Amino acid sequence: MGYIDRNARTILLTELISGMALTLRYFFRPKVTINYPYEKGPLSPRFRGEHALRRYANGEERCIACKLCEAVCPAQAITIEAEPRNDGSRRTTRYDIDMLKCIYCGLCQESCPVNAIVEGPNFEFSAETREELMYDKDKLLANGDRWETEIAECQAQTAPYR
Ligand code: SF4
Ligand code: SF4
Repeated sequence: MGYIDRNARTILLTELISGMALTLRYFFRPKVTINYPYEKGPLSPRFRGEHALRRYANGEERCIACKLCEAVCPAQAITIEAEPRNDGSRRTTRYDIDMLKCIYCGLCQESCPVNAIVEGPNFEFSAETREELMYDKDKLLANGDRWETEIAECQAQTAPYR
């Protein structure tokens, strides 16, 4: 019986026809793929992407050099040095993140009392060399300036759950 059935299916091309029917059915359905990088999928406001150091609206750095983020980082990816300014405020003189060590756990941003260090929505920061992924304070502040609008929006959306 199996022999007859197999031959009948070969002669009548039933598997080919059912395969073509399946193709035709999906041909008219909405596409599930996107044309990246020209199209991008939605991102959660909790997405943990590239790090950034934020400023207040007056341009002052938020970071007060408390070093909580450095202490909590399980990968020991953050290095901070600090000293008081002339006005007595305490600020970082060095804020480095080794992005190759980082595991994107988000503990640094959760520990920050002033929302200074955050993981922004940018996920397109691949590099060709290791050196490019050693971020310093200037790079992190520049990221903050570049992504502030998106970061502020994400922070506002997630605020009720913090
Ligand atoms: S996301 Fe986690 S691993 Fe990366 S710097 Fe922050 S605390 Fe460290
Ligand atoms: S980024 Fe936040 S947690 Fe880290 S040293 Fe600055 S104020 Fe403290």
